[in-house]
Amino acid sequence: MVDVKLENVVKEFDGVQAVKGINLHIKHGELFTLLGPSGCGKTTTLRMIAGLDYPTSGKIYFDDQEVTYLPSYERGAVLVFQNYALWPHMTVFDNVAYGLKLKKLPKEEIRKKVEWALELVKLKGFEDRYPTQLSGGQQQRVAIARALVVEPKVLLLDEPLSNLDAKLRLEMRSEIRRIQRELGITVIYVTHDQEEAMAISDRIAVMNVGTVEQVGTPRDIYERPKSEFVASFMGKTNVIRAKVVERDGNKVTAEFEGLRLDGLHYEGDKDDVVLVIRPERIKLHPVENAVSIEGTVDLVEYYGFFTEVVGLFGDTRIIARTISDREVQGLRPTQPVTFYIDREDIIVLPKQL
Ligand code: ADP
Ligand code: MG
Repeated sequence: MVDVKLENVVKEFDGVQAVKGINLHIKHGELFTLLGPSGCGKTTTLRMIAGLDYPTSGKIYFDDQEVTYLPSYERGAVLVFQNYALWPHMTVFDNVAYGLKLKKLPKEEIRKKVEWALELVKLKGFEDRYPTQLSGGQQQRVAIARALVVEPKVLLLDEPLSNLDAKLRLEMRSEIRRIQRELGITVIYVTHDQEEAMAISDRIAVMNVGTVEQVGTPRDIYERPKSEFVASFMGKTNVIRAKVVERDGNKVTAEFEGLRLDGLHYEGDKDDVVLVIRPERIKLHPVENAVSIEGTVDLVEYYGFFTEVVGLFGDTRIIARTISDREVQGLRPTQPVTFYIDREDIIVLPKQL
C-alpha cells in the first residue's frame, strides 16, 4: 500500500504536450480512476506512474520517496495492459510465475505464490492451460494474477475490461473490486466508460485533453460537476445553453428560448452559461422551490423501470425521467407539458464547449 502523488507532471511527444502539468494525490488502499475520452492522456499518465515512461517535467512520489525516474521494478508498480500481453507459448502457471523466476525465488516459494494468486482470481486448476485455451475473461484474470503475484505496492489497470463482452465486463468489474478490497492494495484504474468508473471507484479524476478537470467521489462528480465538460461526460444529462440576464450577488436569472429562470446560484462572471440538469431531477408535478417551464411533448420513451419524457422548449430538447407510470399516462407528442425543477437542482456553469 502506498500513496501516489503527481506534481505538475508534463509529458511531451515531439514538442506537443499530451499531459499538461497534472497534480494528483491518490491515497493508499484507494481505487482511483482516470476517466476521460480517447486521447486525453490516460495511458500516458498511467505509464509514467508505472515507470514505463518518464515525465518531461514534474515529479512523482510513492509515499515520501521520489520515483519519477525509477524503473518499474524498483518502485513496485505493475501495469496490466489493455490487451493482457500474456506469453502465448507459456502455460498459465509459467505466465504467472515469470516475474518470480526473474527474481530467482526458490521453486517451492514460487509454487505457493502462484497458487495464491490463481486462487485469488478464481483460476485454480488452470495451471497447465495455454492462453489460447482460455476465454477473454480468463486471460484477463491470468494477467491480473501475474501482476499481483509480485505483490506490487500499486496495481495499474489500463482499460482492463474493454475487450470483454457486456456480461463479462460486469462480472470482472466486481471481481476487480473484490480483489482490491481483499488485498487493500492501491489501484489506479483507467477507463473511458463513465458508468464503469462510477461503479468501481472510490474517487475519479476526469481528464480532458491532457488536464484534470475534476477529482472527487462518483457522487461528487455526478451531482456537482464543476465544468460543462465533466457534466456532459458523466452520463445522460441536460446541458442547456443560456444567458445570464440579471444578477443579485450569487443569485442570477438566466434565460433560454425566451424562458426566464430566476433565483439560480452562480458564482462565475461569464454571462454565456449552461444549465446542467439531471433528467431524474425534473418533475412533472409541482414541487417546492421550483421553477417551471412550459413546452410541448416531443417523445415519451419507456425503458422498463423508468420512462423518459422529452420536452420541446423552442428548439431546445430537455429530458425528464420518472419512475411513476401514472405521471406519464396519457402524455402524447405535441401536447403541452410543464416541467418543474427545484432551483437547487440547476447547476449553472460557464459555457466551455
Ligand atoms: P488515452 O489513453 O487517454 O486514450 P494517450 O495517453 O494514449 O490517451 O494519448 C494522449 C495523447 O498523446 C494522444 O494525442 C496520443 O496520440 C499522444 N501519444 C501517446 N503516446 C505517444 C507516443 N509514444 N508518441 C507520440 N504521441 C503519443
Ligand atoms: Mg489509453
